[in-house]
Amino acid sequence: MKISIVGTGYVGLVTGVSLATLGNQVICIDDNQEKVSKIKNGIAPFYEPKIEQLLKKVTKQNSFEITTDLTKSVIESDVIIIAVGTPTTNNQIDLSYIKKASEQIGKALAQTNKYKVIAVKSTVLPGVTEKIVKPIIEKYSKKKIGEFGLCMNPEFLREGCALEDALNPDRIIIGQYDEKSGKEFAKIYSKVSSPKIFTNLQTAEMTKYAANALFATLISFSNEIARISENIGKIDVLDVWKGVHLDRRLSPFNGNSRIKPGVLRYISSGCGFGGSCFPKDVKALASFAAQSGVQSMLLKSVMDINNTQPHRVILLLKKALGKNIKGKKIAVLGLAFKPNTDDTRESPALLIIEELISEGAKVISHDPMVHREDILRAGTVEEAIKNADAAIVVTAWEEYLKLPPIFFKKNMKHPVVIDARRIYDKNSFLSAGIEYKGIGLS
Ligand code: NAD
Repeated sequence: MKISIVGTGYVGLVTGVSLATLGNQVICIDDNQEKVSKIKNGIAPFYEPKIEQLLKKVTKQNSFEITTDLTKSVIESDVIIIAVGTPTTNNQIDLSYIKKASEQIGKALAQTNKYKVIAVKSTVLPGVTEKIVKPIIEKYSKKKIGEFGLCMNPEFLREGCALEDALNPDRIIIGQYDEKSGKEFAKIYSKVSSPKIFTNLQTAEMTKYAANALFATLISFSNEIARISENIGKIDVLDVWKGVHLDRRLSPFNGNSRIKPGVLRYISSGCGFGGSCFPKDVKALASFAAQSGVQSMLLKSVMDINNTQPHRVILLLKKALGKNIKGKKIAVLGLAFKPNTDDTRESPALLIIEELISEGAKVISHDPMVHREDILRAGTVEEAIKNADAAIVVTAWEEYLKLPPIFFKKNMKHPVVIDARRIYDKNSFLSAGIEYKGIGLS
């Protein structure tokens, strides 16, 4: 199938490269010329394992192109996927990119008589595809739905393992305006054997929010248990979760061994969730619910807990250094919201750094992949923690997991380690003479 993807961000590029790998002819479109030039030269505008390798491969095979020319690409394609951003501004979903892309696609459709399917892949609230995208395309194409098809195909990829997720999806949800739209659109996934769920547009839209809200809820629940545990004393929440995870309803038996489902990673305590999806989607769903007459007390609490969780890390730091941290040198290890990505959108590290700086601390950060101009960054972990009064581990990068207690002891002024992701063995750090503090540890 010939496919155009409007918006070549994280989702657009990963989807484009994957659909090209799966035998389609893909044209990715972006209105950011700099991004387009980079991708043309085989450079991904973000870090994601293996993306550049595959990008170069599909470009060489002539199954992938990148352009700024939306009109020409739409006219040439059978399927047009919308993958532009849907940020949340003042707790409301911002649909300006969706509206503009729909208008541009509509205008391009006006120049052709061939039947094409438009599919929304961006995360949008229930009703957006039918009530906003459809009328805009109808208006500018001067065609009625039926002359073009319409689908909603939410994306579930996880940054850090995005290619694996896009090439072997757990499921493909196809919200279809009518059967013809769904049938035509599904052809782009003809080589994928994952289960396909055909449903209506609104259900597809809601499936994405329900999935993200569930994982976000599990994280905030786990962080609330950590807070209660910290307060009681003598509890290590890490052991609590080990015990909870071994419930056979969470880790079913497979003969004598146990299956460890991925969901267990979300039932564990840390400094909160970030990234481009969970925070914005939970906020958007909560305000959408309120507008439709449902006060979502649960989703509000999920966000309240998450917004205040980075502050818990500062409290741990103050337990070790005292209330006044002015002038103290604090190393923050990890800026990305999770390992294997350079994405810092809504990363807890940013809130932690902001609070440290506002209290007069001297912050020096390190991240293997993030290069931000606005945050002082050391080239190596050693350089970051050298003569530091404390080190806070915010992202569970592989590189940090391997650091032995002696490494901190040797390099720091005061060996204070705040483990905001609970990646270290508490006992070996304590017995090495480190003042070790962690989330969910009294
Ligand atoms: P992004 O901001 O990284 O990328 C969006 C891209 O669209 C940008 O490159 C922008 O220049 C381009 N763009 C905007 N309007 C355009 C237009 N009219 N014509 C051409 N290009 C245009 O966003 P993203 O992270 O890729 O997310 C896209 C959507 O997918 C969002 O709705 C997001 O919620 C959803 N999603 C994201 C992820 C993720 O992990 N990033 C996962 C699942 C779903």
